[in-house]
Amino acid sequence: MSENDCIFCKIAKGQMEAEVVYEEEGVIAFEDINAKTPVHVLVIPREHVPSMAEVGGLPDGITKRLFEVAQAVAEKKGVAESGYAFRINNGPDSGQEVLHLHAHVMGGRRLSMP
Ligand code: 5GP
Ligand code: ZN
Repeated sequence: MSENDCIFCKIAKGQMEAEVVYEEEGVIAFEDINAKTPVHVLVIPREHVPSMAEVGGLPDGITKRLFEVAQAVAEKKGVAESGYAFRINNGPDSGQEVLHLHAHVMGGRRLSMP
């Protein structure tokens, strides 16, 4: 999948609608369209990298911001104290569907592994 037909690139550029929870220069967080938990937000770098294999290609500091923004989103959504999962799917066995690196922030009920 190229950046041109990547849905998360389109959301990052404002070319496709999403319910934005938080945004800054390099990172944007928005509601998952098919929430699997009461709180289910996706946090993505604006720049396109398909998965963790290419994470080194992101600008300096962006990976740290993904973590910090996830925590800020959890606070905003009221699950920072009850707890939440920060999950990045990579490749077929993980169930990764969208090939633009994204972190799931999931909470609002008791979760189990995997
Ligand atoms: P993955 O399985 O790749 O880790 O997760 C992809 C997530 O993106 C899924 O939870 C799915 O519901 C969500 N998703 C897929 N397409 C869209 C979309 O167009 N907009 C939003 N907001 N979420 C999407
Ligand atoms: Zn993309």
